[in-house]
Amino acid sequence: MTADAEDAFAAVADELRVRILRELWDADDPLAFSDLRTRVDVRDSGRFNYHLGELRGRFVEQTDDGYELRFAGQKLVAALHSGVYTEDASVGPVPVDGTCFDCGGTLEARYEDELGRVECTDCGMNLVGGGVPPAFVDGREDDLAAAIDGYLRTQIRQCADGFCPQCSGPTTGFLEENDYGPQAVFECERCGAAFRGIASMLALDHPAVVAFYHDHGRSVRNARIWELRWFDDVERDGDAARVTVTVDGDELELVVDDSLAVSVA
Ligand SMILES: [Zn+2]
Ligand SMILES: [Zn+2]
Repeated sequence: MTADAEDAFAAVADELRVRILRELWDADDPLAFSDLRTRVDVRDSGRFNYHLGELRGRFVEQTDDGYELRFAGQKLVAALHSGVYTEDASVGPVPVDGTCFDCGGTLEARYEDELGRVECTDCGMNLVGGGVPPAFVDGREDDLAAAIDGYLRTQIRQCADGFCPQCSGPTTGFLEENDYGPQAVFECERCGAAFRGIASMLALDHPAVVAFYHDHGRSVRNARIWELRWFDDVERDGDAARVTVTVDGDELELVVDDSLAVSVA
């Protein structure tokens, strides 16, 4: 990490400063110095002024109308609201509709240690899984599987659109082979994070697939990722991967090229 990053973390490594940021987040409009101090509830004006000064510039902006959060301040408070740094939520295991790809066993979903997973109770196979912030399961405990499905789809879309889900930096996509077949890999050019999954996941949002489902009176968005049996129907074809989408016995073939662009075969 650079010295700048260390300075930025040092600037918020104080409970009073975090309270200032939270009050500015909660306020609808910029706050005058005295209003902000009353809300944060600090008697000592000098102490308050010192800590506010440490936030000014990077996290907080002073305008003619008063103090307000800058983008960096908003991101920081939003990260606190996501619960990643503060909560220790766990949900499940809860039963999930459908059966295991591999052995036909029953499925369950669970959320713990900031990981959302759908697993087979018989063979132990992890059908889907990934890091999910606690806020994402908040209020969705009764439908944990839908929450995990929705979060993963959002991440796939973000990667495919070229944004790193971790830092928003640009991603580069390529194909890789492993025991489960061709894998789509997205690497962030900025933070180095990598996201991988079976190459067929890139077909989920393709207009031809959405239309193919629609023509069969179905919605690909309403199916859970682990219920899509055609996810397994992907094979290497030279530099590319060939995905066969099957609905009610009809087939649609797509090609995922080596830079992860998808087209109808
Ligand atoms: Zn299984
Ligand atoms: Zn990144």
